[in-house]
Amino acid sequence: MPTPQPIPIVSTSEKPNWGIIIFLIVFHAGAIAALFFFSWKAIAVAFVLNWMALCFGIGMSYHRLLTHRSYKVPKPIEYFLAVCATLALEGGPIFWVATHRVHHQFADKPGDPHSPHEGGWWAHVGWIMVGESKHSNTAMMAKFAPDLARDPIYRFINKWHYMPTVIIGLALFAGGGWPMLLWPIFFRICVGLHSTWLVNSATHMWGSRRFDTRDDSTNSWWVALLTFGEGWHNNHHAHPVSARHGLAWYELDITWLHILLLKKLGIAKNVKTVTANTRLPERAAAA
Ligand SMILES: [Zn+2]
Ligand SMILES: [Zn+2]
Repeated sequence: MPTPQPIPIVSTSEKPNWGIIIFLIVFHAGAIAALFFFSWKAIAVAFVLNWMALCFGIGMSYHRLLTHRSYKVPKPIEYFLAVCATLALEGGPIFWVATHRVHHQFADKPGDPHSPHEGGWWAHVGWIMVGESKHSNTAMMAKFAPDLARDPIYRFINKWHYMPTVIIGLALFAGGGWPMLLWPIFFRICVGLHSTWLVNSATHMWGSRRFDTRDDSTNSWWVALLTFGEGWHNNHHAHPVSARHGLAWYELDITWLHILLLKKLGIAKNVKTVTANTRLPERAAAA
C-alpha cells in the first residue's frame, strides 16, 4: 500500500462546503417525504439498491478490495462492484479510498479525517461538510490512491460517480412516480449514508474491543447489521488486510459471505483472512 503523506485532508478549521450541505438537506427532506408515499414495491426496490450499494459496493469494492486489496477478482467484476459503490453517493473511488487510507494511517490521531476526538458529530458527518476544493480535487486525492489514479476506468468512474444514481433515479421516476424516486433514491441513500458514517462515529466510540489496537476502534453488532459487516471495526483496524471482518461465528459479516461465495466459485483469488486468535501484526513482529 502506498504511504499517504502526513497531512490532514480535511480539518475542522475549513470553510463550510455549501454544495454538500444543501445536497444533504435536500436528501433528508426527500427521505421524510417518502413516508407520505408509502409503497411496498418501492421499499423492496430500495432494499435491493441498498444491498447493491453498501454490500457489493462500499464493503466489497471501495473498502475491502480497493482500499485494502484483501482479495482479487477479474477487472470487469472489479469495475461492476465499483459502479455499485457509486450508488451509495459517498463519492468516487479515488476520493473514498484516499480518505480511508489516511484514516487508517492516522486513526484517532492528528491527521485522521474523521475521528470522534474532534466530536461525535464531526466524525459522523461534520467532516464531509467542510473543505470546498478537496472533495472534488482528483489530482490532490490521487496522491493517496495512485494505484487507482493510474487506471483510466477508475478515473472515469470517479469523475462521473453520481451518474449511475441519476440514471437509475430518472428511470425509476419515469416508471413508478414519486414513491419510486423517494424510497429507492432519497430514503435509501440517507439510510446508507448514516449506516456508513456510523462506522466512523459509533465504532470509534461505543462497543467492545477484541484487539488492543492503537486507535479507539470497536466492534458493534448493530453497526455490523446496518453495514453488511463493516461494524466489526476493531477486528478490521487490527487486521486491515483481512477480507473477513466478523471473526467469530456470532459476528455476522454478510460482505464476507459474498466474498467467500466468489472464492468458492473460483472468481475471487488471493483472499486474505485472519482468525480471532491472530496476533496484531506489530506485536507478532516484536515477538
Ligand atoms: Zn476506523
Ligand atoms: Zn479500512
